[in-house]
Amino acid sequence: MSEFDLIQRYFTRATPGAVLGVGDDAALLRIPGGMELAVSTDMLVSGTHFFPDADPLLLGHKALAVNISDIAAMGAQPRWALLSLSLPEADEAWLQQFSTGFFALAQQHGVELIGGDTTRGPLNLCVTIMGVVPQGAALRRSGAQPGDDVWVSGRLGDAALALAHLQGRVQLVADEFAACAAALHQPAPRVALGLALRGIAHSAIDVSDGLLADLGHILECSQLGAEIHYDALPVSSALRPYLAQPAGQHCVLAGGDDYELCFTASVARRAEVEKISVQLGLPLTRIGAIVAGSGCTVRASTGSVINIGESGYDHFA
Ligand code: ADP
Ligand code: MG
Repeated sequence: MSEFDLIQRYFTRATPGAVLGVGDDAALLRIPGGMELAVSTDMLVSGTHFFPDADPLLLGHKALAVNISDIAAMGAQPRWALLSLSLPEADEAWLQQFSTGFFALAQQHGVELIGGDTTRGPLNLCVTIMGVVPQGAALRRSGAQPGDDVWVSGRLGDAALALAHLQGRVQLVADEFAACAAALHQPAPRVALGLALRGIAHSAIDVSDGLLADLGHILECSQLGAEIHYDALPVSSALRPYLAQPAGQHCVLAGGDDYELCFTASVARRAEVEKISVQLGLPLTRIGAIVAGSGCTVRASTGSVINIGESGYDHFA
């Protein structure tokens, strides 16, 4: 199969939302008037982000999901994606599954694949995502205000717990593992939440490297601190038994791969945030507050400070 056939067969779909999609030297996009373009890219490397024998259907989903999550965290509407693939070989069964997983999620969010690059090499998946947001309306990391509530969507730590199980660091029973494995392999980017939070949240980020690391980015960018209530953190029944142990503390505070949104909003907006939670059928949990100063203090209900000595995944630390 030639490179051209591969692109044609697995990565070329109709793109009615673009002026020009796959097949020329560049795609052409028209940005609607009054909108800003939100652009982000995220790479998944075999051996670093996933096991080399990972299910290609799930990889296709995840490669796009982690990118859509960044657009969601900006409060933008995802629209277009580019896909750059480095593949050891043109394995048609693998490509079919990967492409199916990718386009299933793309269709769910109205994302069109408008181009990319395909080369032979070690397995490496890189997606660039583009979205649109009304001028000035994007949710930034830098907007937190003293006294803001800190909120998080969904549940934290399940993906890290599933990974800990796969690596033999904890042992889950089968149905607990199944529930956590879904969080690890099929994260659901919180696009509707990001859109609903425009004009309400002061700041937002998606939790990809662990709560402490990602909330830490909001704090640094906003030049503020936070007090987090450990016992308020939303966790699954599978993770709850581990919460008093270092392994569980690591999962919920620093595990990463959650792809939930962490955001801050003034106390006056609590009822609106709770209404969004009901409308979206998505738990939104108040986990603490923004305070003057710097850094994040995590406290148990006894008042003691929980210090896990690391804040999240860092490729070069
Ligand atoms: P060029 O040599 O001009 O860079 P390519 O042969 O790399 O062109 O790509 C041809 C067309 O196919 C371009 O429109 C490019 O964006 C698209 N393309 C290449 N790889 C992919 C891919 N994995 N997914 C989607 N589109 C792709
Ligand atoms: Mg090219």
